[in-house]
Amino acid sequence: MNLIFLGPPGAGKGTQAKMLGDRRGLVQLSTGDMLRAAAAAGTEVGRKAKEVMDRGELVSDDVVVDIISHRIDEPDCADGFILDGFPRTVAQAEALDRLLDEKAKTLDAVVVMNVDDGRLVERITGRFTCANCGEGYHDTAKRPAVEGVCDRCGSTEFTRRADDTEETVRSRLETYHAQTAPLVDYYKARGKLRAVDGMAGIETVAEEIDEVLENA
Ligand code: ADP
Ligand code: ADP
Ligand code: ZN
Repeated sequence: MNLIFLGPPGAGKGTQAKMLGDRRGLVQLSTGDMLRAAAAAGTEVGRKAKEVMDRGELVSDDVVVDIISHRIDEPDCADGFILDGFPRTVAQAEALDRLLDEKAKTLDAVVVMNVDDGRLVERITGRFTCANCGEGYHDTAKRPAVEGVCDRCGSTEFTRRADDTEETVRSRLETYHAQTAPLVDYYKARGKLRAVDGMAGIETVAEEIDEVLENA
């Protein structure tokens, strides 16, 4: 099964993609994670991307389409994947349609997580991540069971993203509404859209995703 998780920054895409991926054996493909890895590696693409990301703007369509196109060819994607944070523009969605066609793959559904802008600011400013395994946490909504120790891997090192500040969140939200929200209609028109209430608790959202995917 090949899916897209769509929603504003902080909606819970990464959290739910990891959980659904574990439940169903699907690979999570996060363009944000891939771009941050490129930035950390100090590649030309990564350095340029970091400047754009720190402003809360979008990296160019060509760059992300190229990354995703290659990543989907990896053997671990054969049994299905969840695109988390891609596509983010109509041009990316059109490019994805073309490349799935070429690779004889199908898109089964697009799950959109709806969360009010006001709530997203606290989601993002409270977000932190295990530096070792990438498990996501939140200052109030999801703390490790043992303080300072990752539930998943036992690591004691955590990181916060450079772009997870209140200021940058505002521009990321503007970018979302201007450039990414049109994808809701794009996928609705193609009969792929499944909406869930992203304001609910993490476990409730996970259950709702299972429900909307029953007939996908
Ligand atoms: P969030 O999960 O908060 O939405 P991401 O990790 O998905 O954030 O993305 C972080 C940043 O990486 C974005 O603000 C953008 O600059 C860049 N980025 C990620 N995915 C894409 C994409 N598909 N197209 C363009 N830029 C992207
Ligand atoms: P996205 O990938 O869409 O940017 P994340 O999955 O990283 O969003 O979630 C953003 C933050 O909000 C994280 O700190 C995460 O632990 C927390 N979070 C995710 N889903 C929920 C939820 N349903 N309720 C409360 N907090 C949540
Ligand atoms: Zn961990």
